Amino acid sequence: MAEYRDIREHMVRTQLIPRGIKDPRVLDAMRRTPRHLFLDESMREAAYTDSALPIGEGQTISQPYMVAVMTELLELDGHEKVLEIGTGTGYQAAVLAELAREVFTMERISVLAARAEERFRELHYSTIRVRVGDGTLGWPEEAPFNGVIITAASPRVPEPLIDQLADNGILIIPVGSRYSQHLLKIRKTDMGLTREIHTPCVFVPLIGEHGWAPEG
Ligand code: SAM
Repeated sequence: MAEYRDIREHMVRTQLIPRGIKDPRVLDAMRRTPRHLFLDESMREAAYTDSALPIGEGQTISQPYMVAVMTELLELDGHEKVLEIGTGTGYQAAVLAELAREVFTMERISVLAARAEERFRELHYSTIRVRVGDGTLGWPEEAPFNGVIITAASPRVPEPLIDQLADNGILIIPVGSRYSQHLLKIRKTDMGLTREIHTPCVFVPLIGEHGWAPEG
């Protein structure tokens, strides 16, 4: 719809470019991906605002800027096999699908996974596969992955996800306390792992064997 295309262009020009998102492929993927169609109708009006939004089950869809930063850090050129942990609405996976060869996405809450899968079918995203389960254990049958992106906050980098990273692969994860983190970028090289600290952020917790324990 032309109206939503214009709103997305505005989002790119006011929220992403001024904050330093540069990769033209990432900016184009953000222009193309219909974020409003990954939200319930009652939330669609707010789809392109500069914030995270509730998606039910106590979870959130990340702010557009955070989706763009994490995607840019993965340095995708179109040939990669990517693993996402934290499917949520499926929006981040759809952005990744514009930029990589195949996307595998895991979600621990089965109703969210089912909704996302239905959206992928309706919107013809044929290169995305969804699995319900503890993403801190990864998806070993499909490893290695050239990119791994964790869209929930962890106290540490889950070891199985490092193991499932291909040589020269990049992993992006918010690491820190329950309520405040920084994005970490880890690259697997011949010499071992390199590690960079990026943007401060606040994500919902990654709950699982190699993340946080469930509350309560
Ligand atoms: N990427 C999502 C999107 O585009 O809508 C937003 C992700 S939301 C910030 C974080 C998601 O991670 C939640 O849906 C949560 O249920 C999920 N999650 C938390 N721990 C998980 C785990 N161990 N394995 C898989 N998913 C997990």
